[in-house]
Amino acid sequence: MEPATLRPAAELHVHLRGAMPPAYFAQLLERHPPARALAQAPERHLAFFRRWPHLAGFLAPDAPAGADLFGFSTFPGFLASYLLSGYFVRTPADFRGLLDAVATDFVAQGLRYAEVTVSVPEYLMQGIPLEAVCEALSEASRRPDIRLRWIVDLVRNFGHDAALDLLRRLLARPPAGWVGVTLGGSEAEFPPGPFRESFELARAHGLGLTVHAGEAAGPESVWEALRELRVDRIGHGVRAVEDPRLVEHLAERGIPLEVCLTGNVKTGVFPSLAAHSLPQLDAAGVAFTLNTDDPTFFATTLAGEFEAARSLGISEQALGDALANVERFAFDRDACRIRFSPLRLC
Ligand SMILES: [Zn+2]
Repeated sequence: MEPATLRPAAELHVHLRGAMPPAYFAQLLERHPPARALAQAPERHLAFFRRWPHLAGFLAPDAPAGADLFGFSTFPGFLASYLLSGYFVRTPADFRGLLDAVATDFVAQGLRYAEVTVSVPEYLMQGIPLEAVCEALSEASRRPDIRLRWIVDLVRNFGHDAALDLLRRLLARPPAGWVGVTLGGSEAEFPPGPFRESFELARAHGLGLTVHAGEAAGPESVWEALRELRVDRIGHGVRAVEDPRLVEHLAERGIPLEVCLTGNVKTGVFPSLAAHSLPQLDAAGVAFTLNTDDPTFFATTLAGEFEAARSLGISEQALGDALANVERFAFDRDACRIRFSPLRLC
């Protein structure tokens, strides 16, 4: 297959706020000046923000706010930026605007199907009612120009009781386009095992299961996700290479990894792209898809991720497989397949 024919048009791992176009963030900053947006932030969040020099512009009233939201170089630094950006999505209109800005940007890039991870608890924390979140998601899932499907991030940092409570509330009135659940947040501090009951409930309701594992923590986190949560896919999983038995297991069972190359380098999982584990995983026969994760924060695009993989020496054959895997492992395979080919518009 010629490289020119590979036009990635679908992905499975992209966070809603992580894909927020910078121009929309600038609008939000105008709407909600930092001093006001952060006025109700709990002290533990403010203390977390203060640890990071790149966020100083948001905390000092006389400094130019927003100057360096993307100036992190570690995973906790990225989480701080990400958490802080959530304080500017404060109303149902902000949330609807975010969905619209992201969808419009995806369409402009040629995307036709995306499973978008939505960290619902973070929007509720800003005072947006769950009903308003669900209405906006339902509406956006009906766009004619792109099929958006939702993976609800139960956010591990809020703990299992909160995750289960949110899941039950969502199941009572599920938004249109909801296809799966995941756990984002601090993997190293909040392992997947305690969330077993939530994942069992989600599975019983026909939702797809994935989890962020093997990104900020090592292979034991992936093992735990597989054993305790019985997930269908692994978000990242790229540190599986630290355990050859795990790599073998993933390949044998055909459990796919949602690989996000640029993000892994920007958050310090690997010191450089050249040091990334994807070539090893590919050589071992582990199935993978390529994804952007948080394209705004990592200054990447889906096409850019394919270029990054190519620069790592991943073959055109394997890149073609990665595209086909999107359809194979999509949580709404029909929506991914019937109207749109992951390769290009039908
Ligand atoms: Zn992610």
